[in-house]
Amino acid sequence: MSTPTVVVVGGGVTGLVTAYRLRTSLGAGARIVILEQSDRLGGKLRTVPLAGDPVDVGAEAFIGRRPEMPALLDELGLTDQLVYPAGARPLIYAGAELHPMPGGTLMGIPADAQALAGLVDTATLDRIAAEPDLPLHWERGGDVSVAELVGTRFGEQVVRRSVDPLLGGVYSGLSDTAGVRATLPTLAAALDDGAPSLIEAVRRALPSPSTSPVFGTLRDGYGVLLDALERAADAEIHRGTAASALRRAGRRWSIDPIGEVDGLVLAVPAPQAAALLADAVPAGAEQAARIPLASSVVVALALPRDSGLPRNSGILVATGEDLSAKAFTLSSRKWPHLAERDVELARASFGRFGDAGLVDADDDLLIALARKDLATVTGVTAEPVAAFVQRWHGGLPQYRAGHDEIVAALEAAVADVDGIEVAGAMLHGVGVPACVASGTTAAARLTTRVAG
Ligand SMILES: Cc1cc2nc3c(=O)[nH]c(=O)nc-3n(C[C@H](O)[C@H](O)[C@H](O)COP(=O)(O)OP(=O)(O)OC[C@H]3O[C@@H](n4cnc5c(N)ncnc54)[C@H](O)[C@@H]3O)c2cc1C
Repeated sequence: MSTPTVVVVGGGVTGLVTAYRLRTSLGAGARIVILEQSDRLGGKLRTVPLAGDPVDVGAEAFIGRRPEMPALLDELGLTDQLVYPAGARPLIYAGAELHPMPGGTLMGIPADAQALAGLVDTATLDRIAAEPDLPLHWERGGDVSVAELVGTRFGEQVVRRSVDPLLGGVYSGLSDTAGVRATLPTLAAALDDGAPSLIEAVRRALPSPSTSPVFGTLRDGYGVLLDALERAADAEIHRGTAASALRRAGRRWSIDPIGEVDGLVLAVPAPQAAALLADAVPAGAEQAARIPLASSVVVALALPRDSGLPRNSGILVATGEDLSAKAFTLSSRKWPHLAERDVELARASFGRFGDAGLVDADDDLLIALARKDLATVTGVTAEPVAAFVQRWHGGLPQYRAGHDEIVAALEAAVADVDGIEVAGAMLHGVGVPACVASGTTAAARLTTRVAG
């Protein structure tokens, strides 16, 4: 087939990477179409001007130790955009006080009691220290929620004060809606390998110490990456166009509003993937429909200089505190390039899985809550110079216990059908690097089917 027509549904980072990879593999002659239901590309990546300069109001970083982002930035000639954090440490707000974030934990799960000294009470510290003496019942290949595993071994305080704040930051979820296998795969592997205690499993699962920075970001925001991907993909882009009515057309596919095409990649969130797959791949649709989403809101604040923000990268909030916000990123402290600006930047995040009430509150209320909670936690009362409210309905998929099985069944159902692939945050990681990897894999698979 010399000039195939392929459609990428969804213009988030996954869809854009997919389209770019398809352009490289299928060549200049291929017709590559991106259908994006909203009026802008980027999905959960969005950069807006705030007090005159670009600010990310969706994802604001990526895991720098994974190879995908540095490699992609290099390919696109954007290496000069790559920046690393200043090295300030985050804090945890628990028991109405600020605590340094413990070091040496796996997503807040300690490898020894001392790591949580000061954050949890002495009874809990004693319990952690005694944990290796208790027999551990772990079913090889099994799965439970992180809350169940950590709660039964170390107690509730470790869940609420150490694990929940970290999981809330990454997944907008809590440890009772996060499955061990999907959210902490190295821990699940250590338990499968017969680690005799949770402490020992955490020790084995912790990444080896490294001096390379954990996170990276783009100097001028993710918008720069979106623009570069759009250019490199050289695709026919339909904004404001929801794909629908996906069905088989002989050996080809049909999708509204494009018509017949040779192949497709669905790079959309789980509920939309379920709706699109309903007729064509019902077994896949059934699995996608089992992945729930959590909604959240980001309130970005530009404060006057010398507003008194603490010299920390951010503040994560334990569950059960008398606050609406679940986390603050102190962007001007976290990123050296943002520290140079004329204003001090901070982001407040609201909304956890099952607690979407605030997502539709009006902007003024959300800004007022962000200011009130920031004042409670840090004492900063400065009037913002500018503010931006970004709602993320269905922002993040929840990887509950059993998520890996759902994904395996979904991918198997789709693999049974020629010329269609799924990709994106619902599958093998919500982070941007995982989405880049997912789009790359989907494009390679589709290329084999379409061009092979
Ligand atoms: C508040 C927040 C903060 C985050 N912070 C970080 C971070 O710091 N670091 C990190 O690595 N990750 C972070 N993430 C996660 C990461 O941003 C996302 O998981 C990732 O951007 C998802 O990309 P995607 O392309 O798979 O999906 P999406 O971004 O959801 O894109 C899917 C696109 O499909 C479109 N669509 C849906 N249905 C249809 C249809 N029928 N037809 C056409 N188009 C359709 C949607 O409009 C959307 O544009 C964060 C997420 C959120 C919400």
